[in-house]
Amino acid sequence: SRKPIIAGNWKMNKNLKEVFAFMAEIDGKLPSEDKVEVAIAAPAMYLVPLVHHRGKNPLKVAAENVYFENAGAFTGEISPAMLAAEGIEYSVIGHSERREYFHETDEDINKKAKALIAAGVTPILCCGETLETFEAGKTAEWVSAQIEAGLAGIDAADVAKLVIAYEPIWAIGTGKTATAEIADETCGVVRSTVEKLYGKEVSDAVRIQYGGSVKPETVAELMSKENIDGALVGGAALEAASFLGLLEIY
Ligand code: 13P
Repeated sequence: SRKPIIAGNWKMNKNLKEVFAFMAEIDGKLPSEDKVEVAIAAPAMYLVPLVHHRGKNPLKVAAENVYFENAGAFTGEISPAMLAAEGIEYSVIGHSERREYFHETDEDINKKAKALIAAGVTPILCCGETLETFEAGKTAEWVSAQIEAGLAGIDAADVAKLVIAYEPIWAIGTGKTATAEIADETCGVVRSTVEKLYGKEVSDAVRIQYGGSVKPETVAELMSKENIDGALVGGAALEAASFLGLLEIY
């Protein structure tokens, strides 16, 4: 009985006017919180406006990234404490774009996870393999290693509450969704890795999203799978109509 979580990830898109237009379009149209949790991960400068403008809409707000210290001389960074103070519920960490373009390591991501948990912000921990790794048949070992390193030293009770996003890099922004079978299989690998490390109670509770070219037309089949508890959606979450389309099944 894991509650699904559908999250948009806007990445580096939109200006503030477009953010307000999006909010106006979804106003009053989100499904009930009893059925699904809905979130938007947005650039840092839109997080506070989103919190202020969501009104009564059941919309959670997520950062796309965070630093692992709470304050100090770290020019350009934002902290878990800052997110928590403004009512931001989630932060994506370890997205493949951050790992690739900004050289984030599993160790950095593990520090971010711990700092977020300590501040009371829920991590959405991303993992996923390259096309090369996928084609070499090494997805399971790659993803398990990312999860094990990302979660190192975190208490079982905290692991149970977090969200993990499995995003095969070859499916991000390419229009090539992993088949629902492949997505389910690798989300299952993530779940069994969590079970091996923290036990079945934790692995039954942890929510695992699939991400990579999810569209309104493909979301239903993906969400019907045993091990998939939600989606992390880039392109199809940018326009309000398409974002609402992702939620039509709820
Ligand atoms: P797309 O849905 O655009 O493939 O992006 C997926 C993603 O990276 C979400 O974090």
